[in-house]
Amino acid sequence: MLIDIHTHLVNRNFNVNNCKANFAIKIFLKKLKYTCYESYVNNLIFFINESKLDKAVLVAIENSEICANNEQVLSICKKHPEFLFGVNLNPFDRDIDLKIKNAHKDRAVLVKILPSFQNIDLSHKRCIPFFELLKEYNLPLLVHTGKEYTIKTNNQHLNDPALLESAAKMGVKIICAHCGTRKFLHEKSYFKNWTQLALKYENVYGDLGAMITPVQIFDLKKIIKNPDLKAKVLFATDYPAFPFYFPMKKSINSIIDTYSFFENLGFDDTIYKNAERLLAL
Ligand SMILES: [Zn+2]
Repeated sequence: MLIDIHTHLVNRNFNVNNCKANFAIKIFLKKLKYTCYESYVNNLIFFINESKLDKAVLVAIENSEICANNEQVLSICKKHPEFLFGVNLNPFDRDIDLKIKNAHKDRAVLVKILPSFQNIDLSHKRCIPFFELLKEYNLPLLVHTGKEYTIKTNNQHLNDPALLESAAKMGVKIICAHCGTRKFLHEKSYFKNWTQLALKYENVYGDLGAMITPVQIFDLKKIIKNPDLKAKVLFATDYPAFPFYFPMKKSINSIIDTYSFFENLGFDDTIYKNAERLLAL
């Protein structure tokens, strides 16, 4: 099964006209000719069906004006077989055990955490019971790593992959979104911290979401050159993100553009097989 491990849905109440959303969101939605929630869903389904992919994981973000929350994402996943449910949870919630149990019942395939936005230090020992639950339910953890551009916060250091060392040691299946990379040269890169973690722990991976940019292309080439790293990445678009690299030809379908680019660069089937294995599909 060919899967996009990381896509997003706009919030059902998102209003493009009076939103204070940042530049990136505006560009993404302009490219999609965004009009409303329903058209967004239908467009994404059309792109998946037109591509060679079978399914995409829709990742929820709670308490965001821009991204759809768990309830909205779950309802779309129940209606459309093209989507798999990526639930957003907070390890510090008192009823986290019940929430994981319910997410598992709702057929969530992974748990997403955006540390800087949720203000979660994943190296804190209070996260240990949460990691135990992830292992019990065989749920991988998808963590945003590197600077967050869409949902702005001040705690960017929380997105450092190095903070995942104790979870990695415990054997939690971890996918570091964007492999800890940066989009602009003047910013801090966590790519090296991701490579160290991915090379040290069998259960640590990275996703290639939103990495087709002039700066990140150098990190993509470093991954390709190292067979051990190349074996540790998964296909992802981070839709509605699309390739932002001028030398490449672009179509309207950013999913096809993204995998065509990766395949031309030298990535093989492993990027899909890893996802299938990690999600236990
Ligand atoms: Zn994302």
